[in-house]
Amino acid sequence: MSTTQGGTRAAIVTGAARGIGAGVAKRLAQEGFDVAVFDLDEAQTKDTVAAVEAAGRRGLGVGVDVSDPDAVEQSVAKVAEQLGPPLVLVNNAGITRDNLLFKMSLEDWDRVMAVHLRGAFLMSKATQKYMVEAKWGRIVNLSSTSALGNRGQANYSAAKAGLQGFTRTLAIELGPFGITVNAIAPGFIATAMTEATAERLGITFEQMKQAASQNIPVRRVGEPEDVAQAVAFFVDERSGFVNGQILYVSGGPNV
Ligand code: NAP
Repeated sequence: MSTTQGGTRAAIVTGAARGIGAGVAKRLAQEGFDVAVFDLDEAQTKDTVAAVEAAGRRGLGVGVDVSDPDAVEQSVAKVAEQLGPPLVLVNNAGITRDNLLFKMSLEDWDRVMAVHLRGAFLMSKATQKYMVEAKWGRIVNLSSTSALGNRGQANYSAAKAGLQGFTRTLAIELGPFGITVNAIAPGFIATAMTEATAERLGITFEQMKQAASQNIPVRRVGEPEDVAQAVAFFVDERSGFVNGQILYVSGGPNV
């Protein structure tokens, strides 16, 4: 599934040092892709790269801020050189800078937009040329249930809703080249990001997960592997007719 005439296909996962991105990188390696692990600090990518290699694939850790155009260009070129043309891109890098509107700083608004929207734009632009040339590609963007509205997350919610429009538009533009573009909108996934929210609320992570589970129809919170499962579906060769979709991975229809 993940091989071409030229050999194993290469994938890039951004923000893959930990959390959902790390889970996705490992799963893509299990699915047969070589995986470039992008994150802010190259040293932090070591564990994910090791997991990719343990699955029998080549891993490459790259320190890059996805909102920096020059760094993105150089990093994507490095992947092409060392792993081959990147034909799968998972735009996963993300941050939260939560606050109620009246307390939200312009800096926190701008930074959230920069990582999620500018980052996904720059990464998609830099990789699409390889996909167009190969007449095959897969882009998966990480949206969120917060796109539907979430108190204290005006910046994050706007960025995640923005990614849904970005996804649909790229699906239309790139579809003719054999490239599908889809988004996953997770609900509560247990990672450092949600753990930080518990800390901010002054409760333990266990308490937070317990409370959240009560409102989720399947009565548990999600794990990175739940998101990785959806990514594996979208990037599969056989999913080529699924394009421009937003898949909520949240244990229920609207949580
Ligand atoms: P996480 O544990 O905080 O991991 C995010 C990773 O992205 C971190 O390693 C972080 O690096 C990296 N990163 C941040 N800014 C970056 C940048 N400018 N360039 C490159 N890498 C950057 O978060 P997560 O929970 O796995 O979330 C992954 C994605 O899923 C995000 O887009 C998030 O919005 C989305 N999501 C998460 C949930 C959830 O419940 N966890 C729900 C819905 C959607 P540092 O550690 O150095 O900051």
